[in-house]
Amino acid sequence: MPGVDGATRLVGLMGWPVSHSLSPRMHNAAFAALGLNWAYVPLPVSPENVEAAVRGLVALGFVGANVTVPHKQAVLRWMDRLTPEAEAVGAVNTILVGPDGSLVGDNTDVAGFLADLRSHGVLPPAAGTPPGGRALVLGAGGAARAVACALASLGLSVAIVNRTAERAASLCADIRRWLPAARLTAHPLPQALGELAPGAWLIVNATSLGLHTDDPLPWDDGVAFRPGQVVYDLIYSRRTPLLDLAERSGARAIGGLGMLVHQGARSFELWTGHPAPVEVMVAAISQA
Ligand code: NAP
Repeated sequence: MPGVDGATRLVGLMGWPVSHSLSPRMHNAAFAALGLNWAYVPLPVSPENVEAAVRGLVALGFVGANVTVPHKQAVLRWMDRLTPEAEAVGAVNTILVGPDGSLVGDNTDVAGFLADLRSHGVLPPAAGTPPGGRALVLGAGGAARAVACALASLGLSVAIVNRTAERAASLCADIRRWLPAARLTAHPLPQALGELAPGAWLIVNATSLGLHTDDPLPWDDGVAFRPGQVVYDLIYSRRTPLLDLAERSGARAIGGLGMLVHQGARSFELWTGHPAPVEVMVAAISQA
C-alpha cells in the first residue's frame, strides 16, 4: 500500500482465516481508482478474540469492517444496531463505526445478490416488475438466508430445499418474523427436486457443495434443467459441475463472482459515501 500515511482511513476484513480473501485487492483497487486515501487490511481474528477485535475497531479508529466465516453470527451481539437485512439474515458481514463509536451491523449479501441478478438482466431494474413463478434456493445456511431475504423482499415465491429439512423450516420462520407476507416453503434436498424444479424460473445453489472437486452435486442428476431457467451458483472460486450440467441442458448458468463484487460495492459505499467503481472491482478480482 504505497499511499498509506498519517491520514489514511482504515477498514478491513475480520475472519479466521482471511489470507485467501480477494476483498483486500478488490477494495484497495477501488480506493486507488477514486483517489481515496483509504486502506483495506486483513484482520485475522481467532474465535476467542472476536469481542476484543470488534471493540478494537472503535479503539483503533477504523471506519468499519467486513466480517466473514466463522464470525458473521458471533459479532451480532456486540452491535448497537442492526439493519433490517442483518436482523432478517441473522448475520453481519459489514460493520460501520459511527463518529460516536457506535456499531451498526449490516448484511450486504442481500443487496449484493439482487444487484448481480439485475446486472445480468435476470431481474428488471429496481422499479420493474419481477418475474412470477417460484425460485428454488438450495441450502439453508447463512448465504441461503441472504438469498431468501433478497427474493422474498421483492414479493417473490421461494422454495427452500435443504438436506436438513428442519433448518429450512426455521429459515422460513425467521424470515417471516421480519417479513410476515414472505412467500416461503421448506422442502428436503434432494427428494423435493423432481416436483419443484420443472416450475422454477430461478435455481440458486447456496449450499457449500461444489467448492471442492470431489463434492457431490447439490442436485439430483435425474432431474433435468430446461431452457429458460437460470441456475445461479454462489460459489465463485471455481466453475462448478452444477453450472456445467445446467448449461448442457440449455439453462443459463451464472457463477457467484458478481455477488461477491456487488456485496463489496455496497460495503464500500456505506463506508465512503462514494459510488463504488464496480468495473474496477471486477477487474481486480478477475486478475487475482
Ligand atoms: P453454511 O452456513 O455452512 O451452509 C452450508 C449449506 O450447505 C447448508 O445448507 C448445508 O446443509 C449444505 N450442505 C453442506 N454439505 C452438504 C452435503 N454434503 N449435502 C447437502 N447439503 C450440504 O455456508 P454458507 O455461509 O451459507 O455458504 C454457502 C456457500 O455460499 C459457500 O460456498 C460460500 O462460499 C458461498 N457464498 C458466496 C457468496 C458470494 O458472494 N458469492 C457469499 C456468501 C457465501 P445442512 O443444513 O443440511 O447442513
